[in-house]
Amino acid sequence: MTIRRFPAALALAAVLLVSVAAVAGAGPDHPRSRPHSVIGESVRGRPIEVRRVGDPRAPLKVLVVGSIHGDETQGHRVVRRLRGRYGERIRGADFWTITTVNPDGVAAGERRNAHGVDLNRNFSHGFDPTLSGGYNSGPHPFSEPESRAVKRLTKRVRFDLAVWYHQPWGETLVPCDSSSRYARRYARVSRLKPSRECDVYAPGSAISWQRHRFGTVAFVVELPGGRLHGGEVRRHARATVAVARMLK
Ligand SMILES: [Zn+2]
Repeated sequence: MTIRRFPAALALAAVLLVSVAAVAGAGPDHPRSRPHSVIGESVRGRPIEVRRVGDPRAPLKVLVVGSIHGDETQGHRVVRRLRGRYGERIRGADFWTITTVNPDGVAAGERRNAHGVDLNRNFSHGFDPTLSGGYNSGPHPFSEPESRAVKRLTKRVRFDLAVWYHQPWGETLVPCDSSSRYARRYARVSRLKPSRECDVYAPGSAISWQRHRFGTVAFVVELPGGRLHGGEVRRHARATVAVARMLK
């Protein structure tokens, strides 16, 4: 058995790329044994890591981000679930999983990054420079190393589907465009009630940039506050795979 190689066209050669040795004890084809790549660094120099599960040769590209706000970390457990044995069974889709794009915020238990910027207001689509406080958008679009790392990865991989986890609303946010049926499917499988996202004011968000710039089916899952139980984590992992299947 050999470790699957990434297709050359998708290699992140031009991006800061560091392969890390396999995790001891896992078999060579186990997702946990696959190398992860560092796609960038936070303000404080913490690595932002991506790990692929599923079928790296599949044309269907899926991004799953456990958190962008550092105090909303339950999505990390969904990412862990996808990277575990469950992820081994994913067929026909290439999942790129990121635990957090805001490692400084997670370390500090804080929504924003170490510059005090809300990374989910720092993307260019609909960027609003007047936002401050918890929604501080930063001095200009992509002013932060973390949002630039997402930008580089997205431009290279051109994801078909992107699921971003937040807390604590306890809702699957259904976009008002053609991707609504995918979010509704997610809501059904995860049993996290759907709510229309059209009215949510989120200028400069990651999903709006991915949708408008690349046509990605991108939506937010607002997990409930507090700690999810194991059954919920499993349902959310299953829901991402169910939505990916719709796109095949
Ligand atoms: Zn959030």
